[in-house]
Amino acid sequence: MGSNFSAVKCTSHGCNGFLLPTCPTDSNSEWMCSEKDCNVPVCSVQISNLFLDVKNQIRQASELEDFRLLLEKFKGKLLHPNNYFIINLECTMIRLIDKIIPEKDDNDTLQLAKWQIELCRHCMSVADLIQPGGNQFRGNYNNCQMHNKLSYHDAFEYGNSLVPGTKN
Ligand SMILES: [Zn+2]
Repeated sequence: MGSNFSAVKCTSHGCNGFLLPTCPTDSNSEWMCSEKDCNVPVCSVQISNLFLDVKNQIRQASELEDFRLLLEKFKGKLLHPNNYFIINLECTMIRLIDKIIPEKDDNDTLQLAKWQIELCRHCMSVADLIQPGGNQFRGNYNNCQMHNKLSYHDAFEYGNSLVPGTKN
């Protein structure tokens, strides 16, 4: 499928590959690295333990900053950037930013909105890999006032060119 929705960073020293189950429908399947030269299989128990640990760490997070730190720690380092735990973290952060924005001043709001757009874009790119086209998953992000925020962002980025020039 190529979405890497379950992929985990390979633990072999210096390897940049990602581990995936050899048989995705079997929960006891061995996991192998995406790099051809990296042939050491990893047992499913080891992966389950890793996921359990990740889950516990996420469960303890409550503030946006906690989630941000976890994202930094996991994304591309322990888990593939498209791993479902990463997408879950990003979804949570999108919702938290929605809650926080009304309490912030304009400058912070703009930064948070930009950040939220990045998170939304990544989530949507993964949603497209899993189920291209219109679907519920994608629909949820469109509902998070994306359009308003994108307009806000664009208005800021291109603000100067949008202001009509004064004519003599
Ligand atoms: Zn590897």
